[in-house]
Amino acid sequence: MAPANCHNCGQTSQQELFPRINVAQDPGLKDRVRDGSLFVWECPYCGARNLLRYQTLYHDPDARLMVWLLPGDALPPREVEVAVRDLEGYTLRLVREVGDLIEKVNIRDAGLDDVVLEMCKWVTRQELSAKNPSLSDASLRFLRTEGADNDLVFAFPQGGQMQVVNVGFNVYEDARGIVSRNPSMRPAPGFAQVDAAFLEAFFR
Ligand SMILES: [Zn+2]
Repeated sequence: MAPANCHNCGQTSQQELFPRINVAQDPGLKDRVRDGSLFVWECPYCGARNLLRYQTLYHDPDARLMVWLLPGDALPPREVEVAVRDLEGYTLRLVREVGDLIEKVNIRDAGLDDVVLEMCKWVTRQELSAKNPSLSDASLRFLRTEGADNDLVFAFPQGGQMQVVNVGFNVYEDARGIVSRNPSMRPAPGFAQVDAAFLEAFFR
């Protein structure tokens, strides 16, 4: 437990933190990560909903996935980095926002590769901005696959609202081919930050 201040009324209350989340040991936590409720608390004084910002290490041993949520620009402690970087077959990721952690979990649960998916977002952003130039830097988030053809479903903000766009799985297959032909697009060992900036570094 840790004290947290309500953003609305300023009152302090004790909130439970989860600095380590192991979804094999505690499967119920996975749903609470995916719907974000693990990071939201309701103020007992005024009822306002608050977002908890703290660091946590999400670990799914079955999926061989570790995602470190580190708000701000801090880096994982060196000794932890060294301890896990050679784990066989593991994907290690560093994210800055709760929404990024949720997305990484959704990507892995859909059986997809996040590097390939960042390229799909890049392609989709080009297509969206060809129709509407204001979307040239739209932030896309993967939600799920949908339908018999495994369409990729992305959300993005437009005019203060969230929109969704479906993208054919052929886009993913094309992107997967490009990534497999370019081994330099694979992140270095350790906790890698795979996001729009990561991908754009290859197009400069
Ligand atoms: Zn309050």
